[in-house]
Amino acid sequence: MKATSQAPYPRTFEEFLEWFSTEEDCAKYLEWIRWPDGFVCPGCGDMKAWRTDRGLWHCQGCQRQSSATAGTVFEDSRKPLRLWFHVMWLMMAQKTGVSAKNLCDTYGFVSYQTAWGWLRKLRRVMIRTGRERLSGRVEVDEAYVGGQKEGTRGRGAEGKTAVLVAVEGAPKKKLGRVRFRCVEAINRESVELFIGDYVEPGALVVTDGLSVYDRLKAAGFEHQAHVITTGGEIARLELDHVHLVISLLKRWLGGTHQGAVTPSHLQAYLDEFAFRFNRRLSQHRGKLFHRLMQQAVTVRPPAVKALYVAKPQSVGVA
Ligand SMILES: [Zn+2]
Repeated sequence: MKATSQAPYPRTFEEFLEWFSTEEDCAKYLEWIRWPDGFVCPGCGDMKAWRTDRGLWHCQGCQRQSSATAGTVFEDSRKPLRLWFHVMWLMMAQKTGVSAKNLCDTYGFVSYQTAWGWLRKLRRVMIRTGRERLSGRVEVDEAYVGGQKEGTRGRGAEGKTAVLVAVEGAPKKKLGRVRFRCVEAINRESVELFIGDYVEPGALVVTDGLSVYDRLKAAGFEHQAHVITTGGEIARLELDHVHLVISLLKRWLGGTHQGAVTPSHLQAYLDEFAFRFNRRLSQHRGKLFHRLMQQAVTVRPPAVKALYVAKPQSVGVA
C-alpha cells in the first residue's frame, strides 16, 4: 500500500489525490491506521478473522463482523469517505482551519447544519485522553472569550465565557504546549482543578496577583505571582506567553469563525485550537492529517455531556 512509502501520510495535496482516489483506497488507509499489525476484533481481541463478501471482517473467535469505520467518526455516515478525507485534509492544511461556512462554499454542502456537524465530530476526537501534563515553567491566566464584542477584560464581562489557559515555556524562549478549559467561574476550586489536571506537580506556575491562585504552593506547586500594575513591565514580561496565546485564540475565533461560537460549544473550539497550536511547528501539514485520522479511528468520541463542562454564563452570543 502507498502508505508504506517514506511517510505514513501524503506530503502534498498532489500526493493526497493520488493516495485517495477511490473509496477502497480510503477504506484501506483507515484499516491500516486502525490495525497497523493486522485486524484485531473489537469484540474479543482475537486476530483470526476472514473477509466477507461485503468487505467486513468476520471474527473466528466470537463470530462478530466489524468494519474499519465501526465506532469511529465515520460510522453511519452516508457520505463517501473521500469527502471526509478531503474535509480533514482541508481542516489541517489551512493554518487557520475551516468553518462550516467554508465547507458550504467550497464543497457545496447543502446544509450548514451537516457541515457544522462534521466539524464538531472531528473536533471531538481532537482531545486525546491521558495527555501528558505540562512541566517546567507554566504560565496560567484567565480570559473572557466570546460575547458580542471584545473589550473589557474583567470578571463576569457581558456575554463572555471564562476560560483558563496554561502555556509552557521559559520567558523569551519558544512557547511550549497549551491547555484550555471553559469554566463556570474563576475561583480557587476551578483554578486548582485545572492546574491539578494539566500541570505536573512541582512545576513552576506563574500567574498574576489574583487571590484565586494563593493556595497553589499548598497544592504542591512552585508559585510565582506577579501583580500587574500600570507600567509593570517586568510583571507583564513574565506572563508574555499566556497573553500572546490568548490574543491568538481571540483572533482565530473572531477571524475563521467570525465570532459565531456559542458558549456551550466553546470547549470544542478550544480543543481544536490547542490541537493546532501544539503541532504548529510540524513541517508537513500531512502529519497533522495523519494524526487527526489516527484519532478519528482510535479515540471513541466522548459523550457530548462530558465535553461541555461549562454552562454558558449568558446566551447572548451570535
Ligand atoms: Zn471476536
